[in-house]
Amino acid sequence: MKIGVLALQGAVREHLKHIVLSGHEGVTVKRVEELAALDGLVLPGGESTTMRRLMDLYGFTEALRQSELPMYGTCAGLILLAQDIEGYEEGHLKKMNIKVRRNSFGRQVDSFEADLEVKGIEEQVNAVFIRAPHILSVADEVEVLSEVDDKIVAVRQDKYLGISFHPELTDDYKIMKYFIEEMVAKNQ
Ligand code: GLN
Repeated sequence: MKIGVLALQGAVREHLKHIVLSGHEGVTVKRVEELAALDGLVLPGGESTTMRRLMDLYGFTEALRQSELPMYGTCAGLILLAQDIEGYEEGHLKKMNIKVRRNSFGRQVDSFEADLEVKGIEEQVNAVFIRAPHILSVADEVEVLSEVDDKIVAVRQDKYLGISFHPELTDDYKIMKYFIEEMVAKNQ
């Protein structure tokens, strides 16, 4: 499979490494025209309002709203996929029927690591949370894959996968492999 990583801002290289470790081809995506060659797209972590500004500037907001590609968003990427963001009038790409809260794990624990159970993945996943959002509510068609302290941190809706944390900052590429093999490959 050929998987793109949106490379406007954020943790791009780390995702490319996980795509390659999963046994697939990873490419950076900086121009809208590059979307046509892909089987799936990763929206990395970073800062969602900055990413949105750059997406508007380079034409990605409209192109991705219309795109049929399977997408996997981590952290800021999850915020981009959400239908609703607490305190905002409108979501960004609005691909997933969920509502998210930004920076929701509190200041004193801005960053932490945890080993999580994630539905669909056999072993625990090593997760790093950095100024992470969490998912406040989901519609019926959204499957909850993981929770931390009663907060939803991983969801899937059809060909969209949204994760609060950063698997790409660890050596654990199980979620990337799941996205590519269970979601992208089966979408062909
Ligand atoms: N706090 C960031 C935002 O709201 C997301 C943090 C991250 O991607 N590590 O966009």
